[in-house]
Amino acid sequence: MTRIDLRSDTVTRPSEGMRQAMAAAPVGDDQYGEDPSVNRLQERIADLLGKEAALFVPSGTMANQIGLKILTRPGDEVVLGDGGHIVWHEAGAGAANSGVQFAVVGRGGLFTAADLRAAYKPPGHIVFPPTTLVAVENTHNRGGGVVFPQQDAVAICAAARELGMASYLDGARLFNTAAASGRSLAALAAPFDVVSVALSKGLGCPVGSVIAGHREVISHAVRARRMFGGAMRQSGILAAAGLWALDHNFERLVEDHANARLLAERLAGLRGVSLDLETVQSNIVIFRMEEGAPDAATIVARAQELGVLVSAFAARTVRAVTHLDVSRADCEFAADRLVQVLGGR
Ligand SMILES: *Cc1c(COP(=O)(O)O)cnc(C)c1O
Repeated sequence: MTRIDLRSDTVTRPSEGMRQAMAAAPVGDDQYGEDPSVNRLQERIADLLGKEAALFVPSGTMANQIGLKILTRPGDEVVLGDGGHIVWHEAGAGAANSGVQFAVVGRGGLFTAADLRAAYKPPGHIVFPPTTLVAVENTHNRGGGVVFPQQDAVAICAAARELGMASYLDGARLFNTAAASGRSLAALAAPFDVVSVALSKGLGCPVGSVIAGHREVISHAVRARRMFGGAMRQSGILAAAGLWALDHNFERLVEDHANARLLAERLAGLRGVSLDLETVQSNIVIFRMEEGAPDAATIVARAQELGVLVSAFAARTVRAVTHLDVSRADCEFAADRLVQVLGGR
């Protein structure tokens, strides 16, 4: 039976070309700095992001955890938008690993410099936890794949600098942001001290993220990666997938965005479905099932019976994500089935 998997853009399998590049990768022991493929990937991503240095890490979650670790001290407060990956999807690691607490501001994952200033608590105060870091997620997953407005990112980071805080960009889907906005990765990363990007999302690699910033900061990241158990050896096998993906899977992301748009336009307006087309800016479609309509788990189960996999993101929230392993025709098929499940025409 046909099976269209829209649960996440992480479900992609490495293509034949990517596998060949991985198999042929020159490698060495990266703990001695001797893996040429890792070194090349790090240099290339640092360059793309306009940063001095970059470090290959096993996952986006580890990149975020390293960011928290090197930019805060235990007891500090981190300001971020609601629904952030750092708060929702990292199993409480920020509190466990770095001893930080989170102040959630704004709506739909977005916030402004005014929100940051309102939440800010200065260091040296007798009762306040010092706010030392602000984190932005772009695109924002739980916000429906929305692009973080760049003028807000610029203003937030300027305010952070003025307040003596550091800034971090969770750019797990920054390649999607670039494709959706037409801005360069360097322009998107410029306001931030430290930036991470994922290779295992839209770029279709099996493993890996990269964290970038000033050389001095990345030297701290090297130690944190070791502390978290993420230091690797002949990881050039994995880095080679990233190098291949930059050449073959970056520019095509606009296709995923068009496919998400197609899906969203078919679903918006169906009875019981609340879907804000304004939020469908990249490869993610999130909709809410209204009160009285079937809940998310029911929709997921019925869609699965018809060969379409989507995820229940909350009791009444469903998420579908497009990626390089689903074609336009696959998305048309999925849209037909989802319309059927949702009881529309
Ligand atoms: C997927 C994702 C990550 C990292 O996830 P891993 O599965 O650990 O690689 C980080 N931030 C955001 C916004 C994500 O969507």
